[in-house]
Amino acid sequence: MPLSLNDIEQHANKNKTILQEVELPGLTSRPTVYLKREDLIHHEISGNKWHKLKYNLVEAGTQGCRTILTFGGAYSNHIHAVASAGRILGFNTIGIIRGEEHRPLNPTLEHAVKCGMKLIYLDRTTYRKRNEPKFQNELKEKFGNVYVVPEGGTNSLAVKGASEIMTDINIDYNYICTAVGTGGTLSGLICGAKGKGTVLGFSILKGGAFLIDEVASHVKNFSGNSFSNWKINLDYHFGGYAKINSELVKFIHDFENLNGIPLDPIYTGKMLYGICDLIKQERFGVDDVIVAIHTGGLQGVEGMRGKMANHQ
Ligand SMILES: *Cc1c(COP(=O)(O)O)cnc(C)c1O
Repeated sequence: MPLSLNDIEQHANKNKTILQEVELPGLTSRPTVYLKREDLIHHEISGNKWHKLKYNLVEAGTQGCRTILTFGGAYSNHIHAVASAGRILGFNTIGIIRGEEHRPLNPTLEHAVKCGMKLIYLDRTTYRKRNEPKFQNELKEKFGNVYVVPEGGTNSLAVKGASEIMTDINIDYNYICTAVGTGGTLSGLICGAKGKGTVLGFSILKGGAFLIDEVASHVKNFSGNSFSNWKINLDYHFGGYAKINSELVKFIHDFENLNGIPLDPIYTGKMLYGICDLIKQERFGVDDVIVAIHTGGLQGVEGMRGKMANHQ
């Protein structure tokens, strides 16, 4: 029996993913800021990864694939999510990990192995071939009938899933904000917003300008439209992927103290720091309503603890 969307959706805590108004450290007079709590949609497959995976899992089932193969770094939220999804929904999973194996395994990979994911390490040069059809065919020959999900989980079905984050945002907003890694989530939000308000992405990668073309093409492919009400801010990457400084760490602590909501230092922390900074620069009006998506990623905080402690 192929998996239906209902089989997957029954695991989602849709009632928890509310809009929650938040305070921002150091700001009094300011726009209204809500967090959309997608971090609470599932206790393991959290946030945007849930939305990006669900239609891919349905499709894997439809194609008769019992194994999902995907790619990621050693701390990847996506690897963590795919491993959990496999265990919960009955797929075998294979994670192709960038770089060498390190023992003991970090918390992300330890979780993946516990879920039954088979880990394969590739050196960085070979890993770069991950999107080449020839390389993927070699993987299929080696591992049989696998359903391949790209790194970060971004493809057209992921954009479709992410677009549904917009369906229960039923307030009058001016801005929708999200952190951007591969751009799949931002693309979905743009499609789901259907031209309403401004959709603002915060690149967490250094040199993220290439994401503008990527997002434009995902949006066009999925919706057939090229919406113009969106932007990617490139100013809040803090030096690049998983790079942090003491100002960011302090912001994350202050935000959690004020609101009781944890953020991660790789994605949501940088986005909210960016929003806060743009508010200080009066780039938003005091009457604006901003909805920031809490895309989850809290599993990754454990692996960043040492680094964060060095930036106290
Ligand atoms: C993966 C991830 C993102 C980035 O999503 P993309 O669709 O790759 O842009 C943002 N936030 C969190 C918490 C993530 O895990």
